[in-house]
Amino acid sequence: MKDIYEKLGISPAVYDYCHRIEESLSERFQKFDQTAEYNQMKVLLAMQKNRVSEECFGASSGYGYNDHGRDILERVYADTFHTESCLVRPQIACGTHALAIALFGNLRPGDEILAPAGKPYDTLEEVIGIRPSRGSLAEFGVTYRQVDLLHDGTFDYETIRKSINEKTKLVAIQRSKGYQTRPSFSVQEIGALIAFVKEIKPEVICMVDNCYGEFVDTIEPSDVGADMTVGSLIKNPGGGLAPIGGYIAGTKECVENASYRMTCPGLGMEVGATLGVNRSFYQGFFLAPMVTKGALKGAVFAANVYEKLGFPVVPNGREPRQDIIQAVTLGSPEGVIAFCKGIQAAAPVDSFVDPQPWDMPGYDSQVIMAAGAFVQGSSIELSADGPMKEPYAVYFQGGLTWEHAKLGIMMSVQKLLDAGLIQIS
Ligand SMILES: *Cc1c(COP(=O)(O)O)cnc(C)c1O
Repeated sequence: MKDIYEKLGISPAVYDYCHRIEESLSERFQKFDQTAEYNQMKVLLAMQKNRVSEECFGASSGYGYNDHGRDILERVYADTFHTESCLVRPQIACGTHALAIALFGNLRPGDEILAPAGKPYDTLEEVIGIRPSRGSLAEFGVTYRQVDLLHDGTFDYETIRKSINEKTKLVAIQRSKGYQTRPSFSVQEIGALIAFVKEIKPEVICMVDNCYGEFVDTIEPSDVGADMTVGSLIKNPGGGLAPIGGYIAGTKECVENASYRMTCPGLGMEVGATLGVNRSFYQGFFLAPMVTKGALKGAVFAANVYEKLGFPVVPNGREPRQDIIQAVTLGSPEGVIAFCKGIQAAAPVDSFVDPQPWDMPGYDSQVIMAAGAFVQGSSIELSADGPMKEPYAVYFQGGLTWEHAKLGIMMSVQKLLDAGLIQIS
């Protein structure tokens, strides 16, 4: 084994260090295996119940009327998430687009959005109009209110109660921390928050941004009262095979409202050709529990490898997981660069590319990114990025297989060692 790793550029010292860490994680990994097994059965049950057949993999064009495969796939998603309905479409360009459709489709002028658990994902700031932006919900007369978490990271129930008013139409909760420092929320915690909100105002729509959270647990936000659960197909549920797409799972009413924004009033979900992507959507969803498991093992492995090297990691090596993202604070520009070079060097695609920090639009510092993915920007595939500013942290996620995620982390350690930034005993 050491031999093949050495051919890939991993020294025996790094191999031995990482191997010891891996051995210490076997109990943890067994839990991930169990969750994945349960979720695999959940997806299979939904596929069998809906009689998925070869016919489902055909391609439609033009208007895409009567696209049997598309309609059945949406039933498979709905049954997996235990919702009345679901939109799963290649016309949904990314996660932000899915969330925007869900919001625009269900809000009207005069309505208010409440974010009861802090700021939403960066790209939603312009959708909502928190940062003024052309075409935002704010321009259409939808207002926004936010309640931050308390200092200990828990929900500020008293302020949430006071913030719910006659205008409050929709409550937006984000499961994963994204690029914030708060912990990600468990599905249970989200359920408690939804129950609290609904007790005050039962008709309020609760929307959960489920990006990076799918199949991490055996239940999803839709199992604990969310009216809409929204995510991206180039993250967990696409299983690495979906080349594009997003989903909105939820009540018939909410999903139908969203569909009139996805296409247009009157047409809704009846149109939208799938152009041949159905097979990869099905196959990706089938694999997604296993792929998510691999990414989770990679994240926990990274946390433990870097924690023992003395770097701060979030979540820490022992905490339960709510998403597949791992932050490692390397504390120096050289550290961030070496880490990303390691991830890149381990990739199946573009392994020969040398990532460099650059001025990415929309960021206030340079950013370095490592990705050697089959699908552009896919973050269920092994990827890492870090802003070139204090505290010099990298965010790491994905890996279509655990073995690949493991190599990526080993390679990052190797690059740090080669740069003289760490010592291994
Ligand atoms: C990725 C992500 C999104 C959507 O991002 P896209 O890049 O538009 O797919 C939204 N919320 C969270 C928490 C995310 O991780």
